[in-house]
Amino acid sequence: MDGERDVVVIGGGQSGLAVGYFLRRTGLSFVILDGEDGAGGAWRHGWESLRLFSPAQWSSLPGWPMPPTGEEYPRRDHVIDYLARYEARYGFPVVRPAGVETVVRAGDGLLVRTDRGDWRARAVVSATGTWRRPFFPDYPGRNEYGGRQVHSAEYRVPDDFAGLTVLIVGGGNSGAQILAEVSKVARTLWVTIDPPSFLPDDVDGRVLFERATERWRALREGRTVETPKGGLGDIVMVPPVREARDRGVLTSARPFVRFTESGVVWRDGTETQADAVIWCTGFRPALDPLKGLGVVEADGRVRVDGTRSTGEPRLWLVGYGEWTGIASATLIGVMRTARETARQIETALERQAVQGS
Ligand code: FAD
Repeated sequence: MDGERDVVVIGGGQSGLAVGYFLRRTGLSFVILDGEDGAGGAWRHGWESLRLFSPAQWSSLPGWPMPPTGEEYPRRDHVIDYLARYEARYGFPVVRPAGVETVVRAGDGLLVRTDRGDWRARAVVSATGTWRRPFFPDYPGRNEYGGRQVHSAEYRVPDDFAGLTVLIVGGGNSGAQILAEVSKVARTLWVTIDPPSFLPDDVDGRVLFERATERWRALREGRTVETPKGGLGDIVMVPPVREARDRGVLTSARPFVRFTESGVVWRDGTETQADAVIWCTGFRPALDPLKGLGVVEADGRVRVDGTRSTGEPRLWLVGYGEWTGIASATLIGVMRTARETARQIETALERQAVQGS
């Protein structure tokens, strides 16, 4: 046994750190186990030119705002640097690299098994994000297709695709940003289920978070709100995407019906040869370590009340998306659910201590 803590947090990305920030104030003992070699969570794996869709002051974790950058929309490296400094500033007890393999029940607590030993905990927070589970839609013939297939999770720079014909699949911010740069060096075809939803040039993450906050307040107060069109998945017109629009490359086609060995066949039967496909088709929650608890459902999620698992009351889940809290899979949005989670854990463990005494 490597350790015993009141709380073990799995994952040291922004969600794990935000939970750590609030746990620090409770006096509970905790450790954050993280599978990366350094700070930054999934941002360490983003493509080189990745930009946030909101300015620095709208991308902050609790306690210490993200320092401003010279550019309106911070780049990936700025976020990694911020998370590294955030972690150091609060001296969080992060152990890395430590890969959590499984979580099992052990007496009145949970046992967290890692590739570096076991940790016993009275409560576990899963904050493992989604990066480790890229999602590929199931198009017929995908395995027979001989071209290159890359998910946005592994995409790095456009130069890898210079001179090729590239299909970019997916109509969110990743698809739009990657299309914007790959289209400068390659022939691109953008494939989206529906016509992409572009936000007006003057609407960015700030406005979306204000809308999300208003929805959150309304929910708490039992009101209904008229939500204007445009959610966190809609495309923010960051400068490279605007520039791509000016070049006329932001046009998209509805999905093809199947792959061939060297390309794709469209609904009207015509065929296009393609050297590569970049899948910008999103992610699913990375919940493999929780499978041993029997709480991961067929849809890949865990049933929760707020952020607490309904099937395992010593387990909380933070940062996965709307199902674990409005805007919780964003830097600024995770604060609310992280605070509430730490508060609930404190109450639950206090109650347990009283009952046990
Ligand atoms: P992660 O950052 O994935 O951190 C999880 C951590 O857990 C990682 O360090 C991982 O190694 C670790 N881990 C996972 N499994 C295990 C295990 N079994 N054992 C040990 N450790 C484990 N948000 C914004 O606020 N603004 C934006 O502009 C924005 N733009 C985005 C653009 C793109 C293209 C994408 C993909 C996302 C964007 N987001 C943005 C969303 C969001 O901020 C990220 O998805 C964020 O990284 C989620 O943080 P997290 O801490 O929940 O997960």
